[in-house]
Amino acid sequence: MSEPSLRELEEQRERLYAQLAATGDFRRGSVTENYRRCGKANCACAQPGHRGHGPRFLWTRSVPGSRTRGRQLAPGEVGKVRRELAGYQQFAALTGQIVEVNEAICEARPAAAPAAAESPPGQQEPDGEKDDMHPAGPVAG
Ligand SMILES: [Zn+2]
Repeated sequence: MSEPSLRELEEQRERLYAQLAATGDFRRGSVTENYRRCGKANCACAQPGHRGHGPRFLWTRSVPGSRTRGRQLAPGEVGKVRRELAGYQQFAALTGQIVEVNEAICEARPAAAPAAAESPPGQQEPDGEKDDMHPAGPVAG
């Protein structure tokens, strides 16, 4: 398997950016479907095995540093919200791919030839592989 060229990677990134620009409305969270008992003793929902009144649809999302927030959805709104939630999954997948391709581009793009003034004479070390390298910190991945 051959590595994609820098040009191919850049084309891939262009396509991803185009997809990103075409992404519709999206939101985080999930839709839950709830049933509840009203508490009236003579109501049908008080019978054993009755699942309760409903369904009642809630859009919930957990906000970092805060508690989970929810809002009850109007019945006609549920389909729209579900599409918007799916849109977020698409957005998140795209951004992940964009990060990946950008990292590959960074690795593939050669460094510009250093200006002569940037390297003081006598300070250049050979860029060979060393067996006694100690990474400064944990290496992710
Ligand atoms: Zn009831």
